[in-house]
Amino acid sequence: ILKVSHLNKFYGDWQALHDINFDLKKGEVLALLGPSGSGKSTLIRCLNGLEEYRDGEIVFNGAKVEPSEKNWQRLRQKIGMVFQSYDLFPNMTVLENILLGPTKVQKRDRATVEQEALALLDRVGLKEHANSYPRQLSGGQKQRVAIVRALALQPEVMLFDEVTASLDPEMVRGILDIIKELANDGSMTMLIVTHEMNFAAQIADRVLFLEDGRILEDTPGQQFFTNAQTKRARDFLESMD
Ligand code: ATP
Ligand code: MG
Repeated sequence: ILKVSHLNKFYGDWQALHDINFDLKKGEVLALLGPSGSGKSTLIRCLNGLEEYRDGEIVFNGAKVEPSEKNWQRLRQKIGMVFQSYDLFPNMTVLENILLGPTKVQKRDRATVEQEALALLDRVGLKEHANSYPRQLSGGQKQRVAIVRALALQPEVMLFDEVTASLDPEMVRGILDIIKELANDGSMTMLIVTHEMNFAAQIADRVLFLEDGRILEDTPGQQFFTNAQTKRARDFLESMD
């Protein structure tokens, strides 16, 4: 569904990503792991147009994605993203935050989208908060709203970048369970950056291990966690224990 070929990304003169190649198949759950500063966020941001890249190619659903403003607009409806800060609109209710994209950008029928949004909120245990404002919610609740907001656009791929990093420990479980449920559904294609190794081991079909902007391993999930190919990856896993 998504194929990345020979992607190089520079910040000024400095190269952040070196010749990145991988593909993501429909329904696959890919964990993107690696030390801090290895380029995980940079890569994930390239995939949905938050970053320009110098050369290489990203092909989504068979069509080359040109990093032009218009293309990315359309792309972001197909590739949903949730990251560490949830940036909900503070002056809108939970429901309004969720409905904004589907009704304003996708021009879908409001009543239909509202039904879907309420069902999603119910699924993450937040139905009673549909009319709350973000400031009335905890961090974990806001993050759940951010996930629902991304799902409401009915994306084909979901990108998660350390979505639990800024949460209190007791909030983390709930968020991971929601992502796990999505993964177990089998229908959503996902690329997940996380430093929760147990969680990654449970859900990853495949692991990309990144260091210094290079992919050191592209390994099936089971194998990565039990018998990683490179010493760097084994050391990394040990340091995360
Ligand atoms: P972490 O686990 O800490 O989130 P990461 O793997 O997500 O790390 P990135 O945020 O992708 O790492 O950063 C990769 C490298 O690119 C780092 O050395 C970082 O300092 C650099 N970098 C990131 N964003 C920029 C930017 N906007 N301008 C210049 N350099 C940047
Ligand atoms: Mg990061």
